[in-house]
Amino acid sequence: MSSDQYQGRCFCGAVEITASGAPFAMGYCHCKDCRAWSAGPVNAFTLWKRDEVSVTKGEDVLASFALSDASHRKYCTQCGGHVMTDHPGADFTDVYSAILPTLKFEPGVHVNYESAVVRMKDGLPKMKDFPAEMGGSGETLPE
Ligand SMILES: [Zn+2]
Ligand SMILES: [Zn+2]
Repeated sequence: MSSDQYQGRCFCGAVEITASGAPFAMGYCHCKDCRAWSAGPVNAFTLWKRDEVSVTKGEDVLASFALSDASHRKYCTQCGGHVMTDHPGADFTDVYSAILPTLKFEPGVHVNYESAVVRMKDGLPKMKDFPAEMGGSGETLPE
């Protein structure tokens, strides 16, 4: 087994996941969908290639909700705890940083900052929507 493995679990522990390797991006999303889903002001994300994340326990109680086909948000049906968002069209999975306690969260960017309800003056780039290489405008905003 590789040493670069990170275990995660839902709030009650019925669902367990393993992420292997390293996330290709980490940061914060301020969009209204993330805020509504998380019931918090911001979502801290870690992005992995889909095949780097596996469900190791409780797949049968892991449900998925998709407001649009771009994001399949996954949660435990026993505790309601949120685990991750699959982005099938883009071939990556966002495992919420709080789900992976042993992974050092090193955010590099804020996305959808035009929707921000909390300002985070941490010196990181504030993308209006998404970086150009992810199909966004690539525009940045002041903190
Ligand atoms: Zn649970
Ligand atoms: Zn979002």
